[in-house]
Amino acid sequence: MRLQEYQGKELFRRVGIPVPREQLASTPSEAEKIAKAFGSKAVIKAQILVGGRGKAGLIKLADTPQEARQHAENILGQTLKGERVEKVLIAEAIDIQKEFYLGITIDRAKRSPVVIFSTQGGIDIEEVAKKTPNAIFKVHINALEGLHPYQIRNLLHQAGLDSRLFKPLSEIVEKLYTAFSEHQAGLVEINPLALTRDGQLMAVDAKVIIDDEALEAMPELLEKKDGASESPQERMARQHDLQYVKLDGDIGIIGNGAGLVMATLDLVQLKGGKPANFLDVGGGATAEQMQKAMEIVLKDPAVKGLFINIFGGITRCDEVARGLIAAKEALKIKKPMVVRLTGTNEEAGRTILEQNGIVPVGDMEDGAGRIVELVRALRG
Ligand code: GDP
Ligand code: MN
Repeated sequence: MRLQEYQGKELFRRVGIPVPREQLASTPSEAEKIAKAFGSKAVIKAQILVGGRGKAGLIKLADTPQEARQHAENILGQTLKGERVEKVLIAEAIDIQKEFYLGITIDRAKRSPVVIFSTQGGIDIEEVAKKTPNAIFKVHINALEGLHPYQIRNLLHQAGLDSRLFKPLSEIVEKLYTAFSEHQAGLVEINPLALTRDGQLMAVDAKVIIDDEALEAMPELLEKKDGASESPQERMARQHDLQYVKLDGDIGIIGNGAGLVMATLDLVQLKGGKPANFLDVGGGATAEQMQKAMEIVLKDPAVKGLFINIFGGITRCDEVARGLIAAKEALKIKKPMVVRLTGTNEEAGRTILEQNGIVPVGDMEDGAGRIVELVRALRG
């Protein structure tokens, strides 16, 4: 699960990485109060998990507390890629001289953690990788030995960093690795790691991804898991043992089994559509789980149509059909819906659907094409 920026920074603070003074606000007047207390310029930042906040106007600089209030009023309640802004972070604005990138993740090919550093920070590292791949420097860590100080020095040296920054930056790398390894993170990223006018290094942003299972084992972080960092859909899915992932498009996808779901996503893309999310009901889904699955996927405001692709193995088609019909009635679904249902008890499943006015498609390619057309027709 990805943590919100403010939670990621809390983690940084705990391991001793310098972070600007900041506080969370859910109303414009709170924002004003916080900015006033800081007594300086403030940055108002939407707390959502989708990227591109800056470009979308969801990060604003405020010169006065009144301005902070206005920006908060403007930003709160806005929606980006289906995610609604419920909270803003009010951070003391710092005077940035230079922006670096620092991240630690797992290099799957090398099966080891890797530290990534660039003096070209502030923009997406993917973009840096495309435009100036020579500006990205990496060092792999032997997980058993840990990170050696000479490795960090080499890395910073290669990157051409001002040698006066070696010591403070090395300390931040070590602390970030502590945060990474102690929390079994998949990614800890500071972008930008800012160098202020007066020569301090500070984490201005935080992107932290922690494995759900690892989080389960950490009671002090569990509260975060139940907190604002989860979308309502993610929370519901977790509570019902369903795998839900949010994407950028407008077609909701429900399937069973990771392989089938991935293939479904690919087919929808191939037909010119864009999935809004996907939910894997897994093996042996019950009617109740199926109903929940539909409720969760349709709760995403970005969903304009729904494609259900179930291959009955352990899962029984009649169970799925029953859940589907129950959901259709309970939720009064008006959005276009395409169903492909095949496998165990297929005939019984089909009959239930047809009795309730749903005709399942024969194969998944056909289904993918159908839902893409239906959603496109809605756009007019
Ligand atoms: P992101 O766009 O979602 O990655 O949000 P960031 O937190 O990385 O902020 C985007 C950009 O806003 C940064 O790269 C900075 O250039 C700028 N920014 C954020 N906080 C401050 C601040 O306190 N002072 C100044 N001067 N710029 C800031
Ligand atoms: Mn950033």
